[in-house]
Amino acid sequence: MKPEIVEEIKHKYGDRANDSPFERNLYTRDLAPVPALMVDPLFKTMPDLVVRPANEEEVAEILRIAWKENIPVTPRAGASTTYFDSIPVKGGIVMDLNLLRGVVGLNEERMTVTVQAGTTWSELDDYLKRRGLTEKSYPSSAPVATIGGWFCMMGYGIGSLKYGSLLSQVKSAQVVLATGDTIAVTPDTDPPLSWFAGSEGTLGIVTWLELEVRKLNPMKHFLLKMDSVPEMAQVLKEVKDAPVIPYNLHFTDPACVQGMHALGLIPDEVGEGCLLQVDYEGAEQELDQAEDIIRRIVDQHPKVKMMPGEMADLEWEERFKALRLKRGGPSVLGGEVWLPIKEVSGYLADIAAMSSKYGIRFMSYGHVVTPEYVTVMTMFYANEVNTINYMFSLGLTKKIQDVGFRYGGHPYGIGLWNSPYITRIYSRKELAELRERKKRLDPRGILNPGKVYRYPLLFHPFTFGIGANVMAGLIRAAGRGGRR
Ligand SMILES: Cc1cc2nc3c(=O)[nH]c(=O)nc-3n(C[C@H](O)[C@H](O)[C@H](O)COP(=O)(O)OP(=O)(O)OC[C@H]3O[C@@H](n4cnc5c(N)ncnc54)[C@H](O)[C@@H]3O)c2cc1C
Repeated sequence: MKPEIVEEIKHKYGDRANDSPFERNLYTRDLAPVPALMVDPLFKTMPDLVVRPANEEEVAEILRIAWKENIPVTPRAGASTTYFDSIPVKGGIVMDLNLLRGVVGLNEERMTVTVQAGTTWSELDDYLKRRGLTEKSYPSSAPVATIGGWFCMMGYGIGSLKYGSLLSQVKSAQVVLATGDTIAVTPDTDPPLSWFAGSEGTLGIVTWLELEVRKLNPMKHFLLKMDSVPEMAQVLKEVKDAPVIPYNLHFTDPACVQGMHALGLIPDEVGEGCLLQVDYEGAEQELDQAEDIIRRIVDQHPKVKMMPGEMADLEWEERFKALRLKRGGPSVLGGEVWLPIKEVSGYLADIAAMSSKYGIRFMSYGHVVTPEYVTVMTMFYANEVNTINYMFSLGLTKKIQDVGFRYGGHPYGIGLWNSPYITRIYSRKELAELRERKKRLDPRGILNPGKVYRYPLLFHPFTFGIGANVMAGLIRAAGRGGRR
């Protein structure tokens, strides 16, 4: 980036534009620790400048400069993603969107709220709850994840099973394009709203969204315990297909339950096995019907145990602590797979076999997010301080994705690190269509370059596959005895 452009932006934005190495360095990471050895030779993750626009006009102004000067711009909000989605790989400007915060308006007749993109889901929830309302769905990273960040990712999480994807709940949005032009988008505009959902900051910067809200209803929580994965998968199916749709349906596999015991995160009385958390929200009558359904299902499965109500309530309270297993670290690595529900049992059986093969405990939990699909997170412990061993462990993340692929699954979210799997995520036709959109809206490729559409040369699926297999093989040969 030309020094005079850096100075021009710094002059305009004062302490909201920063090029100190200390500040810029903070923007070279997301939640997943990746050794510099794997990053620095290949990518320029250090931005030249970090800017925090406070409103849409400033977003547009910065983009106009970047467009004219051909400067890469990487949008970053909560940075709660793990695939370098919001980390630059070609330097340039990181646009920190966290000052675009707050509710713009509530329309109780339409039952929608208009909110700035950098508002977190928990902040929006606080605002709505004071008015007897709440969101239809939100990610389990709600305390840090922003409205815009989740929209620009896939947008499935808590509440999606009952209320659908975030895209289906958004009525309209405002987007600043790479050129600096601002457009209003709805499902019927050209380009439509759907282009921006899951676009990971590569097509435009979303500044606000109007989304549907719902009445804040009472809830009922149930925690079921079963001995085997096949029984858990069967009960999950029965609960999902019952006449009352759960708001949230979440499973924990036996290895994950063991890991939680090891850290004292669940009471001893839970014992070994799988857990299924079922949460309902609705009118009292609906909740009573839901309770009858759960009791009937439990009666039909003599080995399934209903855990005490306080434990189910606590599991719900802890829903934002998905990463609490990291306490057993130093680090956790893993992969998240978008998987057909009917394949959960087979997937978990293969993951358990992999645990025996590598001598490592792979721990899985999953959220049912549509009537057909579940997002499964499979994690294992690693030690980022031991760089070489850690790099080899990264090879195992591909093994997780390979198991998912065998069962019709693919990675959830792309960013940089999942780019070698794009042909598993999209068909050739879909990829061609996505590239056309990019060409039309950002022909100079300044927005979040190096993500989503193509893998870097060294990440060609073939070479990447060989590399990952070799690394995983070395971990196995080293018999590193990571089982804990
Ligand atoms: C414990 C935990 C639980 C999680 N649970 C879920 C879950 O339930 N469901 C789920 O989908 N994900 C989940 N995630 C992943 C992540 O938290 C979500 O995808 C989250 O919504 C990302 O929001 P963010 O504000 O952190 O976005 P960031 O990580 O900052 O950005 C994500 C991507 O969107 C782009 N972007 C951000 N804001 C904008 C904007 N306004 N305009 C244009 N582009 C933008 C960025 O460039 C980047 O590519 C979880 C992560 C953790 C750590």
